[in-house]
Amino acid sequence: HEASHSGRRYRSYNRRSNEHSLYTVELLGELQSALDDGQLSLHYQPKVNLASDQVMGLEALLRWEHPVRGRIAPDQFIPSAERTGLIHSLTDRVLDLALADIARLRAEGLDMPVSVNISARNFLDPGFADRLLEKVRVSGLPPCALELEFTETALMADPDEVIRALRRLTEAGLELAIDDFGTGYSSLAYLKRMPVTTLKIDQAFVRQMLEHPVDEQITRASISLARDLGLKVVAEGAEDAATLARLRDYGCNAAQGYGIARPMPLEAIIAWAHDRGLVPGLCPETDERAA
Ligand code: C2E
Ligand code: MG
Ligand code: MG
Ligand code: MG
Repeated sequence: HEASHSGRRYRSYNRRSNEHSLYTVELLGELQSALDDGQLSLHYQPKVNLASDQVMGLEALLRWEHPVRGRIAPDQFIPSAERTGLIHSLTDRVLDLALADIARLRAEGLDMPVSVNISARNFLDPGFADRLLEKVRVSGLPPCALELEFTETALMADPDEVIRALRRLTEAGLELAIDDFGTGYSSLAYLKRMPVTTLKIDQAFVRQMLEHPVDEQITRASISLARDLGLKVVAEGAEDAATLARLRDYGCNAAQGYGIARPMPLEAIIAWAHDRGLVPGLCPETDERAA
């Protein structure tokens, strides 16, 4: 359903679904100027190894500082950017910002993978993998410095084509993670075919797992599934020490969540990561796979 430019159609959409509310349409118009005026930046949330408590990577999360409306959460504009195609320039911008920040982190001695969220729609763009690999090449960074997070939804439209693109990216040395595992529509057969290195368990299962036994069972089963498949497993949405301890008991490699740290600006994460220390040998300057 494409949005029409007639005000009347907006109003009729408005009644049926708030996805096409006037607010969303206005935001989308303003997103283009946000791209042009530098209103977008990335915050970073650490992923911590549960065995050593050291940092093993960061996730880049998009932040929009609107001059009038204040900070706007990604959930409020990314879905509509995905529907209109603006997501292509948005993701390109996010990659440019992330690669510049990664260079800064590494200049500080913080050599670790940084992950960027990629929309399902990006994988349907036939030029996407090439553009991305060219950006990495120009940056001079080792490919293992960049990890891509994507959801199972990315596979729905054209699984074979998307898996081909993913293969090219891993063969070039990038890390790939399935985000929000367990909430999408993909079958386990795809999990077997996807060249991913990491599985991220959705916070919907982790956040309240100590109160809800079913959530805990799903989390525990996902951890063993990932480990049996030889994947690293990261639990998202770990909000307290008791949850972190339970995840550690279940053999989960790493966790991310407010119980460890909230997403923060680049300078703050640099200080935080120095303080916490890094898992050794994460992604050294000379990347053997790239050689
Ligand atoms: P995600 O990739 O699953 O990211 C995790 C989200 O959970 C982030 O929200 C993070 O701030 C939040 N979070 C982390 N720990 C906790 C916790 O302990 N409790 C709770 N309640 N929440 C926690 P954020 O930054 O608002 O991003 C929301 C979603 O927007 C992301 O989910 C991702 O799907 C999307 N997104 C964010 N940045 C980008 C981007 O640059 N590109 C694209 N395509 N999508 C993005
Ligand atoms: Mg993510
Ligand atoms: Mg997630
Ligand atoms: Mg999510």
